[in-house]
Amino acid sequence: MAGTDVFTEIVDGEQVYKYYADGEWKKSASGKSVSIVNPTTREPQYKVQELACVIRFHCGSIFFIVFLCLVDWVFGTACTQEEVNKVMEASKAAQKLWARTPLWKRAEHLHKAAAILKEHKAPIAECLVKEIAKPAKDAVTEVVRSGDLVSYTAEEGVRILGEGKLLVSDSFPGNERSKYCLSSKVPLGVVLAIPPFNYPVNLAVSKIAPALIAGNSLVLKPPTQGAVAALHMIQCFHLAGFPKGLISCVTGKGSEIGDFLTMHPGVNCISFTGGDTGIAISKKAGMIPLQMELGGKDACIVLEDADLDLVASNIVKGGYSYSGQRCTAVKVVLVMESVADAVVEKVKAKMAKLSVGSPEDDCDITPVVSESSANFIEGLVMDAKEKAATFCQEYRREGNLIWPLLLDHVRPDMRIAWEEPFGPVLPVIRISSVEEGIHHCNASNFGLQGCVFTRDINKAILISDAMETGTVQINSAPARGPDHFPFQGLKDSGIGSQGITNSINMMTKIKSTVINLPSPSYTMG
Ligand code: NAP
Repeated sequence: MAGTDVFTEIVDGEQVYKYYADGEWKKSASGKSVSIVNPTTREPQYKVQELACVIRFHCGSIFFIVFLCLVDWVFGTACTQEEVNKVMEASKAAQKLWARTPLWKRAEHLHKAAAILKEHKAPIAECLVKEIAKPAKDAVTEVVRSGDLVSYTAEEGVRILGEGKLLVSDSFPGNERSKYCLSSKVPLGVVLAIPPFNYPVNLAVSKIAPALIAGNSLVLKPPTQGAVAALHMIQCFHLAGFPKGLISCVTGKGSEIGDFLTMHPGVNCISFTGGDTGIAISKKAGMIPLQMELGGKDACIVLEDADLDLVASNIVKGGYSYSGQRCTAVKVVLVMESVADAVVEKVKAKMAKLSVGSPEDDCDITPVVSESSANFIEGLVMDAKEKAATFCQEYRREGNLIWPLLLDHVRPDMRIAWEEPFGPVLPVIRISSVEEGIHHCNASNFGLQGCVFTRDINKAILISDAMETGTVQINSAPARGPDHFPFQGLKDSGIGSQGITNSINMMTKIKSTVINLPSPSYTMG
């Protein structure tokens, strides 16, 4: 396999992947590891270090704390909190120097990392296929897109961080021109990045690159499914020669190490992408900037005058790509009753052409990420069945592989009308007015994206204005990207706005220096 040799140092003799700190690949003193199960074979595929940092100070009584300390002592896990503390210290020290590194040099490092990443797309994509069952071609696309994102961020950063502002005092009533204010963007410090399983490389670099160009250091906690692809990606940054301690990557289950990381006093910013976990994190995190990209229930509103072939192809692509495991997947179709039969028939015809099978064979529909995900999806399907939704295909599941399913005549009392399946199962709700569609969309707790299909652009704009979502696509399925577009969720779908420019800005704060001139009575003649 091309380029594999550069990755030999990231794994130990027992084939356990190491964690990355202080510019080196290390084994955790915890002696623990986590198995990553291949969603297709359902067999363990890889092992990563478990930095088992169970948080102690929430546990109430002092006796309980002493008990846990004893457990740590007996089973040898106590020092791993120490390892994370060391990561944070090294990160803080490296950041101070990095912030003084010229902007053009920071950009140079990022361009180098992007090139190395793209050069090693094949072995990284192979991990994505085995860890998260991403279809082979899409896996390569994710790595290449990630390299492009890193380069674009470097260029954008040089431009936007190279500019500041000069303000003069006499524009505010009662002031003379006696003060000049110079304001510029400065880094926040240590950024903690936590991406989800579905894009473990792309959604990691969408945090890493803006953090680094802005002069921050970065601690990555990759998703457990996807950790090995992320570790390979980190090795590409290592090979690009970033200073020691600037980038770290700690692995372990979020449920084990998450609280210790997100509540760590050394963290100055959290950029998180995932599900409801993000809501819990935002309640626990301290007074630091948060970037939250969370779940969605993206609605597709179809009007009578829409191009129905365009609608059908977008529903199939938007609803079933990567087996529906995308935050911006179409997750509910709200179609006007008069065209509903035609839309359902066209969608069914296109769905019949989807290939179902293994990611290695580049099938359209591949196994969902875990057995618990498959069980959750099945629960939504069975609830819809009990409540008499119409099944457009027979429900079929083998292991984690679920055949694509369209559920027609879904009603608001069914769970699937509101919940995010994150699988290849799509509900259709027939509506009698556009207002009904907008109402359903806005009644959701989510507000990520939505889309509307109509030939009437004026109507489309009015509907877009009325939909309470971060983005509305007109005549196309929801999607993230191109990666410099603003991307944001309202309500439970997130905090803040992403996209390359917005992420760079979010990972900085404004610093002002005010020059006070001698009193106005002093003149130069
Ligand atoms: P998830 O279960 O919330 O996990 C996301 C990340 O959080 C993983 O790295 C996970 O690590 C970690 N984590 C788990 N518990 C934690 C804790 N207590 N503290 C800190 N981190 C913790 O989400 P997922 O299943 O990976 O991803 C699917 C979800 O992400 C969907 O809801 C999808 O809509 C959303 N998503 C949103 C966007 C967006 O841009 N809005 C993009 C992609 C995905 P472990 O893997 O070790 O548990």
